[in-house]
Amino acid sequence: PLSLSDLVEAHRICVCVRKRPLNNKEVTKNDIDVVSIPGNGTLLLHEPKQKVDLTKYLDNQVFHFDYSFDESSTNDLVYRFTAKPLVQTIFDGGMATCFAYGQTGSGKTHTMGGDFSGKSQNSANGIYAMAAQDVFSLLKQRRYSSLDLCPYVTFFEIYNSKVFDLLNKKAKLRVLEDEKQQVQVVGLQEMYISCAEDVIKMIEMGSACRTSGQTSANANSSRSHAVLQVILRRRNQVHGKFSLVDLAGNERGIDVRSSDRQTLVETAEINRSLLALKECIRSLGMDSHHIPFRMSKLTQVLRDSFIGENSRTCMIAMVSPGMSSCDSTVNTLRYADRVK
Ligand code: ADP
Ligand code: MG
Repeated sequence: PLSLSDLVEAHRICVCVRKRPLNNKEVTKNDIDVVSIPGNGTLLLHEPKQKVDLTKYLDNQVFHFDYSFDESSTNDLVYRFTAKPLVQTIFDGGMATCFAYGQTGSGKTHTMGGDFSGKSQNSANGIYAMAAQDVFSLLKQRRYSSLDLCPYVTFFEIYNSKVFDLLNKKAKLRVLEDEKQQVQVVGLQEMYISCAEDVIKMIEMGSACRTSGQTSANANSSRSHAVLQVILRRRNQVHGKFSLVDLAGNERGIDVRSSDRQTLVETAEINRSLLALKECIRSLGMDSHHIPFRMSKLTQVLRDSFIGENSRTCMIAMVSPGMSSCDSTVNTLRYADRVK
């Protein structure tokens, strides 16, 4: 039987924040760094030297998270404190989810998919690949090798409530829910993987599919959620599932008058799904029986990760350091604060 502390542990939600360095464009524009990470999970939004009144944004300029990573932290370090502990969960028959949240340009894809600087993607240093690597090292351990677990990968995108298979030429897929509320993405390619290099190939194939070959001009990757799942099957049944989600940008300040209809529809849809996600994670943390997963396609597809007694979630909220991003940064910090 589970003790209370086991339950708390099993439902644990970890919320972290990661600050990226100021980039060249921001430096050129004399943008100022207004985010500091003094330690112990604390993040501070501070007054820049030239007086800008931050109090118009905030009553409280201090935030506390499980971990706060400053601009010098590497993907490897972030991984070790966020997604890595969740790999064990799927071997123990549980569901694990790791979300990258934040405005466009804050570092979500860099953290999850690896560094794209230069022409090619260095996906080996992203959380996707590091998690896959750890899945294979646990599979080799004696206590798991006797379980006959088989690893598979899916990689898909949710754009405007529609699901597209990134491992199958962006095929548009239907989502069905049966009478037992089991949600199924019909026809989603589930690829068997035999080593971590297989996963890296799929990450690169899927990421290329994400950013190119779009029909609609607005369908760029920052407007969609990308979900990579590592699934462990045992005698064809799902034993555990790790979903790693690169969320759509939570942009602030879309100008309603100057934006086209398409952009407004997209934005409304993104807002709705991020709100749904917040509600679902919160109900997971409160052991609530009502999980509003039908509020969006994103949460519907991730339904089985929000239920089950051994579900664990980690959210990494990405922030840009500049004064010019302050609106979005405050928005991100408030969201992350609500989730925990
Ligand atoms: P997002 O996916 O949130 O829109 P990206 O991951 O594409 O943002 O990051 C935007 C740019 O910033 C990329 O060029 C990326 O390489 C760079 N970047 C993001 N995070 C970091 C970081 N922690 N250190 C160095 N560069 C980063
Ligand atoms: Mg991105």
